[in-house]
Amino acid sequence: LDDRDGKIWMDGDLVDWRDAKIHVLSHTLHYGCGAFEGVRAYKTVDGTAIFRLAEHTERLFNSAKILRMKIPFSPEQLNEAQKQVVRTNNLESCYLRPLVWIGSEKLGVSPKGNRIHAMVAAWAWGAYLGDEGMKRGIRVKTSSYTRHHVNITMTQAKAVSNYSNSILANMEALDDGYDEALLLDASGFVSEGAGENIFVVKGGVVYTPDLSAGALNGITRNTILHICKDLGIEVVQKRITRDEVYIAEEAFFTGTAAEVTPIRELDRIEIGQGSRGPVTEKIQSAFFDIVNGRNPKYAHWLTKV
Ligand code: PMP
Repeated sequence: LDDRDGKIWMDGDLVDWRDAKIHVLSHTLHYGCGAFEGVRAYKTVDGTAIFRLAEHTERLFNSAKILRMKIPFSPEQLNEAQKQVVRTNNLESCYLRPLVWIGSEKLGVSPKGNRIHAMVAAWAWGAYLGDEGMKRGIRVKTSSYTRHHVNITMTQAKAVSNYSNSILANMEALDDGYDEALLLDASGFVSEGAGENIFVVKGGVVYTPDLSAGALNGITRNTILHICKDLGIEVVQKRITRDEVYIAEEAFFTGTAAEVTPIRELDRIEIGQGSRGPVTEKIQSAFFDIVNGRNPKYAHWLTKV
């Protein structure tokens, strides 16, 4: 990913893609204190637009606040930076990665006095869990790794360090022949995927874990809550057990990268018919209408670049 043409926004300037480098003594590289976002831009009928840009930038600033990092740019500057990288790199549909990290002035655990940096890159990135997975559903394994407890790392921060847990779970699932991992919280209740929120459907009602299970407050999750309301589907946020997922009629993951991905199997147990279910398909289709600008009600969620 580092050897290509294009520009990356770094600390206020657009720099050549290959020159967007940091020092090996950067504090974040050693101790993992940093925050990031995953954002998508879609090709809409009115041109390329970033989906829920304001909410992503707000979450980035909240993540930084939780991590006691003061971003030396305003939300408006980072919004502009995100629009700029999409424009400059002539991207139509793409993934955006804003990141804030701590510099290399000194390397004790305390980062006090070190400079806070920011970058935004963007590149084309298709279906995170595969085009086939979007249609047929993916195979998921309950992880042997527990999701973060809410008072060990901060689960409402999209913190760099939180992802070592996601990486362990995802690698284990892939090594075992699955597509993705499902993590349980420290009490054994369903929390979230390695990089996705989870929903299940039972008796026409949609269920998702409440955020006390340590899941990230996903922006796609929130979008799904709006979609269900519009479709007249009841949504309940509650504690969910893994066997409730086994006996659900449908299940799906949501996330900026994963979008709406059906889950067809958990731990080799087929969910419902073992394929994308009708409620999931309806929600998926409503989601793509919104992000592609085909639903005027949500035009305010699309920021033209
Ligand atoms: N949980 C985790 C751990 C994630 O990494 C993500 C992706 N950001 C999500 C949930 C979904 O969040 P969003 O819909 O805001 O992308």
